[in-house]
Order: sequence, then structure tokens, then C-alpha cells
Amino acid sequence: MDCIFCKIVKKEILSKMEYQDEFCTVFHDINPRAKIHLLVVPNKHIATVNDMETADEPAFGRMLKVARDTAQKLGLNAYKLLISVGKEAGQEVFHVHLHVMSVS
Ligand code: AMP
Ligand code: ZN
Repeated sequence: MDCIFCKIVKKEILSKMEYQDEFCTVFHDINPRAKIHLLVVPNKHIATVNDMETADEPAFGRMLKVARDTAQKLGLNAYKLLISVGKEAGQEVFHVHLHVMSVS
């Protein structure tokens, strides 16, 4: 499968990676829209939140926790979390990703 985020997870292409565990990976957005702009992705390929299955619940829970922990590690107290679901909502990469964006 030709998925850029799967390749980042597997370290087949380079990214500025902040964190990785058995469920998810955190890396910096290549085209940041905030001073700090991270993406948190499940290691498993899931195209959109609409494709999430019950078995994926632990991964989604971990993504939220890791987003919080990584934001705090980088000194953010306030930040925005965003997931676009579907092309019409602006989703461009069809591997679920949680945007973590600083507000200043
Ligand atoms: P979305 O519009 O929600 O699908 O967001 C996709 C995001 O992925 C955009 O903010 C892109 O800048 C980012 N992106 C695309 N390719 C890469 C890459 N190779 N490394 C890091 N971020 C990327
Ligand atoms: Zn993928």
C-alpha cells in the first residue's frame, strides 16, 4: 500500500519523529500551520475515523493521551486537537491523523 504515513511509521521515509510506541507515532507536520504542529497517527493503517473498528479503541485512546503528553513535553499548556474526516472536511492524507497545534 502506498501510504506516506505508513512509511513514516515504519521509518521508510524520514520525518521529525517525537515519539513512538506500540500503538501510535508522533511526528512534526511537514507544512506547519502553527509554531508547533504535530501529527499523531495510529501505527495501523486506518483510512479515516469512519473506518475505525471496536478493536481500534485502545489505539485511539492512546493517541489522545500521547497527544497530551507530547504537547506538555514541548511546553504547551493550551493547544488545539483536530481530526478531519473525509475529503469534504479537508482530509488529504487517508491514514487517520490527529493534528496537535499550538495557539501562539
Ligand atoms: P489533512 O489535511 O488533515 O489530511 O492533513 C494532512 C497533513 O499531513 C498536512 O498538514 C500536511 O502538511 C501533512 N503532511 C503531508 N505529508 C507529510 C510528511 N511527509 N511529513 C509530515 N507531514 C506531512
Ligand atoms: Zn497508512
